[in-house]
Amino acid sequence: MTQKLQAVRGMNDVLPADAAAWQHLYAVAAEVFGAYGYGELRLPVVERTELFKRAVGEVTDVVEKEMYSFQDRGGENLSLRPELTAGVVRAGIEHGLLYNQQQRVWCTGPVFRYERPQAGRYRQFHQLDVEAFGIATPDIDVEVIAIAAALWRRLGVSGFTLQLNSLGTPEARMQYRAALVEYLSRYESSLDEDSKRRLGTNPLRVLDSKVPATREIVVGAPRLLDHLDAVSAAHFEAVQRGLGDLGIDYTINQRLVRGLDYYTHTVFEWTTNQLGAQDAVCAGGRYDGLVEQLGGPATPGIGFGLGIERLIALIALQQAAVPGNASHVYFCRFGAQAEAAASKLAEQLRNQQPRLRLTLNAGGGGLKSQLKRADNSGARYALILGDDEAAQSVVQVKSLRGEGDPFLCPWAELPAQLVRLLGL
Ligand code: ATP
Ligand code: MG
Repeated sequence: MTQKLQAVRGMNDVLPADAAAWQHLYAVAAEVFGAYGYGELRLPVVERTELFKRAVGEVTDVVEKEMYSFQDRGGENLSLRPELTAGVVRAGIEHGLLYNQQQRVWCTGPVFRYERPQAGRYRQFHQLDVEAFGIATPDIDVEVIAIAAALWRRLGVSGFTLQLNSLGTPEARMQYRAALVEYLSRYESSLDEDSKRRLGTNPLRVLDSKVPATREIVVGAPRLLDHLDAVSAAHFEAVQRGLGDLGIDYTINQRLVRGLDYYTHTVFEWTTNQLGAQDAVCAGGRYDGLVEQLGGPATPGIGFGLGIERLIALIALQQAAVPGNASHVYFCRFGAQAEAAASKLAEQLRNQQPRLRLTLNAGGGGLKSQLKRADNSGARYALILGDDEAAQSVVQVKSLRGEGDPFLCPWAELPAQLVRLLGL
């Protein structure tokens, strides 16, 4: 017996009924990002492994434990992308988009991480990324955060907390890092194994450990915000003022960090208490050193990555409105003449009314079975055409959802009737 074929663990199918929410989210996101002047960048799913080692960092969980890496037949070391920013920066450098200019871009697609699958945590998932390059001032930090807020508003989802922190300049963080290592070293024997290891490689990450014993130690750790220099403090204050001006609420979370040296100033995360343990929907921050780190010209940058599956879960949970994608109309047809006429009519109706979703019966069948298919399609109305109706150039219009009696409609009046009945 051959083994039953199934999707790879942690990688999900999205079925047509559920795809409505995805289509809606993509449409709204493209509109919102466009409204802020961001252009879409479409990138390959596979990049050189080296890119992620340098961009995400060799000492991160993502690169250390979660990447899908392989050699292709030519012996190149490649990886399925575990996030989008690295590719955006790679492409920006490669196409000369980052030389002495501002760029506002967004990007979306599947990303891959070998994690333990559970609700809200998958091995293939999807992100939406927004990135702005070439702008060092805090106004762009505010803009990028405001874009996420606009997206929540347009989708009708609520209940987020915006967590905010500042890592300051690399110099300020170096100082802080030393103070943090000194403090944590005093408690080294009580730290969890991951945190012990990070003490040497990436000590800031100890701050966001989820292990209770480590968290207790972290409570007494020196505070990053106490180590900010004047320039960093002013930047952070300006971001907070800008958010205040737009009426965007936030809370300061001193434990919110990025471990790597090219992260600077603002870091933020949109979290929710409605999704259980997987509470982060959108995470971002300023990465002024990243472009240079990847071989480009020194260029400030800021952006966020948003987990689409978690946002979709929230849309479903909050029953936010999603336009349906079921057919409006199911066209039943009987007899040789009527079948040909219906086929032509269906093409005409779709051409005249691009918003109309019309399923044309195929594969024959009697009235009963065609009406059953019509019902299963989710359509609101059936059009019924037999040779008798065809001879008179009319069609029967029948509600499938108890919205009025059936009636005969001349072909010429069909477009107007459907627009009226369906509110297109
Ligand atoms: P987490 O702490 O939940 O692992 P992360 O810090 O690894 O998140 P980022 O790398 O910042 O996440 O990715 C941005 C967003 O992508 C997250 O805020 C989350 O919404 C989503 N995300 C991350 N990992 C997964 C996953 N395995 N499955 C589904 N969504 C994910
Ligand atoms: Mg993670």
